[in-house]
Amino acid sequence: MVIEKEMEMLLKLQNIDYDLGELDRSKDYLPEMINNLERETEETKKALEASEQELKEQNLLHSKLDMELATFNQELAKFQKQMLIIKTNKEYDALTSEIANRKVRISETEEEILKILTHMDDLKEKIKQYKQKLEEVEENNATQLVHLREELNSIEDKIKIKEGDRKNITVRIDKRLLATYERVKRGRGNQVVVTIRKRACGACYKGIPPQMIQEIRKGEIIYTCDNCGRILIWTDESG
Ligand SMILES: [Zn+2]
Repeated sequence: MVIEKEMEMLLKLQNIDYDLGELDRSKDYLPEMINNLERETEETKKALEASEQELKEQNLLHSKLDMELATFNQELAKFQKQMLIIKTNKEYDALTSEIANRKVRISETEEEILKILTHMDDLKEKIKQYKQKLEEVEENNATQLVHLREELNSIEDKIKIKEGDRKNITVRIDKRLLATYERVKRGRGNQVVVTIRKRACGACYKGIPPQMIQEIRKGEIIYTCDNCGRILIWTDESG
């Protein structure tokens, strides 16, 4: 087989190996992306539920304080009425003290209720925002999740197809050249066939003798970098 054709096969093989590497990586990062999206929805839901729960509790507290306030007001009215019919100084002192006590309690309770109402307004606003966010997150993530899950489910099939392609290519490549390719790939990763740049190896920059460059250009030899062992090719970018 002419060298040009051999190199073309090697480049195809390298592309397939690159794709296989990407597919392998996506087996890790796709589940991670799916988890992140699911967690985002889950966390927004939890924040919403926590605020709704708090609103419920504040509401109960508000009702309880409202009832207490009503009781204090009733008692105050009752004591004020009794003031009109007291007979002794002792009775007067006792009632005055009760009335003062209820007035303080009423004012404290009213203050507390006001605080709760403000807090409840904040919570309602928060809940509104969380609901809106949840809607957005769920809508955005649903589309992405469908896409990502489909991709994840199809990885094994894609790998099988690529492995089939790889087999078809490798049987057509010279065994010694293929062995060189596999050896460099094991040592150097996916970058095995490298373009010559500025008369040097495009990966490690080791210079190439001019004589060799001529022969590589003409497609007379397959040259491996004597420093890093990569297979060097002449392309349009080499000149
Ligand atoms: Zn090199």
